Amino acid sequence: MRLLKRFFWLLLFLPLCAFAKEKPIIILDPGHGGKDQGARVRNLEEKILTLRTSYLTKKHLEELGYRVILTRAKDIFLPLGTRVGLANRRDTSIFVSIHYNSAASPIAKGIEVYYYGKGKQQRREKSKQLAISVLNQTIGQTKAKSRGIKQGNYQVIRETTMPGILIEAGFLTNREERELLATQTYLDKLAKGIAIGIHQFAK
Ligand SMILES: [Zn+2]
Repeated sequence: MRLLKRFFWLLLFLPLCAFAKEKPIIILDPGHGGKDQGARVRNLEEKILTLRTSYLTKKHLEELGYRVILTRAKDIFLPLGTRVGLANRRDTSIFVSIHYNSAASPIAKGIEVYYYGKGKQQRREKSKQLAISVLNQTIGQTKAKSRGIKQGNYQVIRETTMPGILIEAGFLTNREERELLATQTYLDKLAKGIAIGIHQFAK
């Protein structure tokens, strides 16, 4: 009887495990925060835009069935090492850091996605695939200019251990893009693109 009872619990428990396994953890990392405002042009601050975009992306990913964790959920300063630690401590499947760009030239515009081009081959290859997928989907949703995928030596993508990318989702120094980034509609298109890009890679 006891054995039967155990068997019963096992039957109940196994599908739960399978269900949990189907929902990978995605870590979204809104760049900058607190005293570190990032790029700033007129009244638009990178640290606020990255947070808004991350929240919108989280919503889309949760609708697709993912568990999503933000490295910061409000306007606070968070050292890069802490962001990496948060991702590496958990059973994270994918790490995506979200940033906005600035340039001396006001004509520079568009989206570019970075991955770390050194380290273990398997992670490098996967990060590259993730970068391609997120770039394609964000360009598809926003019709922004593609600046391609690039190799970058940023701490958050260099020191995390799962497939990871850093997206520079537009230029605050380009007037046309800045005006778009000030709207919720455009940010949501970007967020949808990031979420679908992650989903296409992960499924
Ligand atoms: Zn940045």
